[in-house]
Amino acid sequence: MNTAPALGCIADDFTGATDLAGMLVRAGMRTVQMIGVPDAPLPAEFDAVVIALKSRTVPADIAVAESLAALRWLQAAGCRQFYFKYCSTFDSTERGNIGPVADALMTALDTPFTIACPAFPENKRTIFNGHLFVGETLLNESGMQHHPLTPMTDANLVRVLQRQTRRKVGLIGHDSVAAGAAAISSKIGKLREQGVEIAIVDAISNDDLLQIGAACADLQLLTAGSGIALGLPQNFRRDGTLAVQPGDADALPTISGLRAVISGSCSVATQAQVAHMIGTGAPAFAVDPLKLAAGDDVASAALAWAAPLIAHGPVLMYATAAPDSVKAVQAELGAEHAGALVEQALAAIAKGLVTQGVRQLIVAGGETSGAVVSALGVAGLRIGPQIDPGVPWTASLGDPSLALALKSGNFGSVDFFTKAWDQLR
Ligand code: ADP
Repeated sequence: MNTAPALGCIADDFTGATDLAGMLVRAGMRTVQMIGVPDAPLPAEFDAVVIALKSRTVPADIAVAESLAALRWLQAAGCRQFYFKYCSTFDSTERGNIGPVADALMTALDTPFTIACPAFPENKRTIFNGHLFVGETLLNESGMQHHPLTPMTDANLVRVLQRQTRRKVGLIGHDSVAAGAAAISSKIGKLREQGVEIAIVDAISNDDLLQIGAACADLQLLTAGSGIALGLPQNFRRDGTLAVQPGDADALPTISGLRAVISGSCSVATQAQVAHMIGTGAPAFAVDPLKLAAGDDVASAALAWAAPLIAHGPVLMYATAAPDSVKAVQAELGAEHAGALVEQALAAIAKGLVTQGVRQLIVAGGETSGAVVSALGVAGLRIGPQIDPGVPWTASLGDPSLALALKSGNFGSVDFFTKAWDQLR
């Protein structure tokens, strides 16, 4: 029996990887998210692997080298189909990195054709006549034209991608997509006769994604947002390589131990979640960036404060503050320095809490999560059940295994920090 993962994915950023991994689990594949290209083989059996890179805005040659290293690892793990995941708003610079990475992966796999489809209709990212819409608005009028790193000033994805690659870019229009998988396959055949090597694919609904997925069963490489992942498990189920039933893909091992919440996000949703948890009477420790800047050992103070409390229920360690207070701190310390100080302190606190016996940990904030996961030496995350859209419980690979919920800023309901535990036994 083949126990190698069927699908190997390369994601160009961390939260994008989590998004894709969550989609795959939802569609019935047991999925692990690896943080960077692993230096050891897969430790357990999975149906899909997502390698999270940070390659969206780095120079194109670095993005290519990292993506090729990820591909080699996935090939060695036995994956048979490959998926390059980028943002549903096709975030890229004029020169890349979507085109150069797709090119390099095609060459390495010696594959003549792939698709490019960032559509994610549930999140209101749709593609029609090759143009990407965010809600009812064209991409270049959606606010994305002002993005500090990847300004998107053209909604015509055929044109955008053609500027990034020497391969001929074409379009599989919605007339083919709406006619179903066979029509999409036949359109692929026609485009290939015309010398097209990468095709933007229209998609405006989940049903479109399922049809596209079915039509792409035999493509060695797919490039897409996370939406296309919905349509892939059906292929593996049909060819017998995926036996797990959809409801069973998110099973996690039981992880018991003490509980804590670490919050370094200052997003509106997180501020409300912090206030809510404090309102329930949970013990809370505020990490003050100015004390950190003054050289105080805030992490040790926080851990000493937590020691007698933590056995009685979850504690909250937070740097989360209102915009005025964050602005004042940033004016004094500089935004980057303040951010780095807080991230380091929260990461040290996370490490100390694990030493105190914490095994169930919620972390709020994208950058904060990155810092915590790196301090804890977590190499990979087994993806479990969703707590709120976009935020699953995960189990870290390795010893000790930790139950981790990594919540990016604006995600989650107001009672996220108090309700999430209910899903863990
Ligand atoms: P989000 O997902 O909400 O964007 P991140 O963790 O990615 O959250 O980013 C929040 C950033 O703000 C981090 O770098 C964090 O260290 C920093 N930060 C947190 N609290 C404060 C604060 N009180 N003052 C200044 N910076 C802060």
